[in-house]
Amino acid sequence: MREPGRLEVVELDVEEPRPDEVVVRMDAVGVCGTDLHSYKGEWNRPTPIVLGHEGVGVVAAVGDDVAALAVGDAVVLSWAPSCGECGACRRGRPAACGPLSTAIGRGTLLGGRTGLSLDGEVVYRGTATGALAEHVVVAGAAALPLAEGVPLEHAALLGCAALTGVGAVLNAARPEPGFTALVLGAGGVGQFVVQGARIAGAAAVLAVDPVELRREQALRLGATHACAPEDLREAVRELDAEGVDYAFDAVGAPETTKLALRWTRGGGTAVVVGLPAAGARLDLDPLDFTNREKTLTGTIYGSEDPAVALPQLLGLVASGELELGSLVGPSFPLDRADDAFRASLGGEPGRVLVRP
Ligand SMILES: [Zn+2]
Ligand SMILES: [Zn+2]
Repeated sequence: MREPGRLEVVELDVEEPRPDEVVVRMDAVGVCGTDLHSYKGEWNRPTPIVLGHEGVGVVAAVGDDVAALAVGDAVVLSWAPSCGECGACRRGRPAACGPLSTAIGRGTLLGGRTGLSLDGEVVYRGTATGALAEHVVVAGAAALPLAEGVPLEHAALLGCAALTGVGAVLNAARPEPGFTALVLGAGGVGQFVVQGARIAGAAAVLAVDPVELRREQALRLGATHACAPEDLREAVRELDAEGVDYAFDAVGAPETTKLALRWTRGGGTAVVVGLPAAGARLDLDPLDFTNREKTLTGTIYGSEDPAVALPQLLGLVASGELELGSLVGPSFPLDRADDAFRASLGGEPGRVLVRP
């Protein structure tokens, strides 16, 4: 992407992989809300940039220092290999890693380089990854083994939406079984929040989305109730007049975050899962936190090391508790990536994939 709103396929110069890196032949890349922010020009990211960070592929070459992988292994890309040494990493919050956050903002890999260029000009990497390509060079630690039996086109969703959405419930909120939940936004991440709530033993899950097909999908995946945004007040009151125990904002816009906090009961918790546009600001009533003792918190990438969380998700897939296949939407070849992004912006009920 040289400028927001248009993608093109070009041949890039790729640096020789380092001993701690692997080459992954990409099979499927999901279009995530983060990519859409960049595509719409809502974030200030350097260009030209290779977008895409939710991907799955097959290892094509392995650096000498990467012991855990072999050529031919199916892998899910993690966009948070994390430095392992900063305060956040040492406190067990690798997705909140400081150097990683810097790298993502600057469009590089962890460590500051991109390894990509075009006619001598640096080409940047979306979300420290740049997965929308035929081949991607990433740190070995960013390529996580996929269990056998999971189709590659299903597994792409594990790389961001599933880790983020399920982790928001299981690792960030950590609710007691029998809780009530509100999920604002039933796109890719929202559907996994719904599933996470079901897996965590929710008594009731209300999914809110303007798109009817997404509401129907949420009801199939574990939501007990679903409504359009305009019916939210009535739907929450029907569930519990005091509000829900946990409200998840899978959209991340200031308006939806305020709704999440508003419909959280006194003493309950609202969790921001989606990412806002750059510069977004929240207008809050402090009495929600004092007089009503509500908690407002946030989560990134499931609040867990992806290398730990992914095997747990694969266990849930194997036991049938976590559904992937029905969440996959239409697929587009790499040279139609623009169509894929437009389909995603248009409210496709399933995750839109690019299949390089
Ligand atoms: Zn993502
Ligand atoms: Zn770190």
